[in-house]
Amino acid sequence: MKETNVLHNLYQKICKDTGERNESPKLIVVVRLLILTMIVYSLVNSGLFLFFSNISGMGICLLSTALFVAIFILSYRRGTFVSFCILNVSVLVWILFNNVMFGWNIGVQHFIIVLLVSCFFAKYRHEAAKVVYVFALCALRLSLFFYCRANAPEVVLADELNNTLQLVNTVAIFWSLSMIAYIFSTDTQALEGKLIEYNEQLQRQASIDPLTGLYNRRRTMEYLDKLLKAPEYQISFCICDIDFFKRVNDTYGHDIGDVVLKKIAETFRKELPPDTFVSRWGGEEFLLIFPKLNGDEANMALETLRRKIKAIVFDGGSAAFSVSLTFGLVEYDFSSDMDTLIKQADEKLYLGKESGRDRIIF
Ligand code: GH3
Ligand code: MG
Ligand code: MG
Repeated sequence: MKETNVLHNLYQKICKDTGERNESPKLIVVVRLLILTMIVYSLVNSGLFLFFSNISGMGICLLSTALFVAIFILSYRRGTFVSFCILNVSVLVWILFNNVMFGWNIGVQHFIIVLLVSCFFAKYRHEAAKVVYVFALCALRLSLFFYCRANAPEVVLADELNNTLQLVNTVAIFWSLSMIAYIFSTDTQALEGKLIEYNEQLQRQASIDPLTGLYNRRRTMEYLDKLLKAPEYQISFCICDIDFFKRVNDTYGHDIGDVVLKKIAETFRKELPPDTFVSRWGGEEFLLIFPKLNGDEANMALETLRRKIKAIVFDGGSAAFSVSLTFGLVEYDFSSDMDTLIKQADEKLYLGKESGRDRIIF
């Protein structure tokens, strides 16, 4: 429990914002974590030099530890950008010094990549400065390479120490890069996830009728347009309308009318074949699309549906009641356009209403 508290306090301390308005608050976290990494890293290095009885190496590492501790303290007194610059300069000096002293093989030059990556998260608006810095870092790395090829290191390290330093440098560099990538990518990913979810929600809202949960007219037109462009099977369409629905509203109230609409929508979804596209075409009218049924098959499905709906008993408060629907069914002729088909279905629906309602006209 105590350890968790210590960690929590440390985390709070690292995250303490400098309040610099032009800078991402995440940058100071990265800067402080990088400084802490450098502190641990130079301490490990001094231990290594001690182990290999290289006292001057150990002294230099201890000195740099002190320097990074000072920069860490400074990060609470100065702005983010100042701390970031001081850290960069210190790391650059550290790279130069190590490469010149101990040669190319200890791998310290890869810290340049850490600086390169971190510079892209600083000062969002100074793009030109970033490009200049990238070129400078690239030039520095190449210069160091050629310098190390032309000149022997000032201090020739024992093979074991050389390899161990390579190992420590690799670990420190991988850790630093992963940490920067983690801190700057998690929020972005979470944000992207939220945006995708929000977009999907908006799209759903734009295509669904809120009362019945069925597709709305806009989405239905889109679907039909797509379907008629590449029909693979026989397609049938039906427009249906609740009979004497105005009377339901007038007798039992608008709320009960809404209950009827919802129940009918639910029955469509439950009773029709799963790939039927069911939409609320308007008020108490629905458009049903059977993408894989010919007229006769759709007729049979609708007959079952008609009976099921008629058998539903609604509680109207004062009395129980039931409703019926009239259906106008058309089979796609593989040539007519969307408007013609809808008009044909509408005409059949009208015919059904005229001839007594509660029926399918095909
Ligand atoms: P018909 O058999 O000829 O279709 O008669 P009808 O009474 O069903 O037709 P009419 O077009 O005269 O009335 C439709 C009614 O549907 C009128 C309108 O108030 C009602 N209505 C439309 N949308 C809704 C809704 O969202 N909720 C409720 N409760 N009623 C609605
Ligand atoms: Mg009606
Ligand atoms: Mg109507």
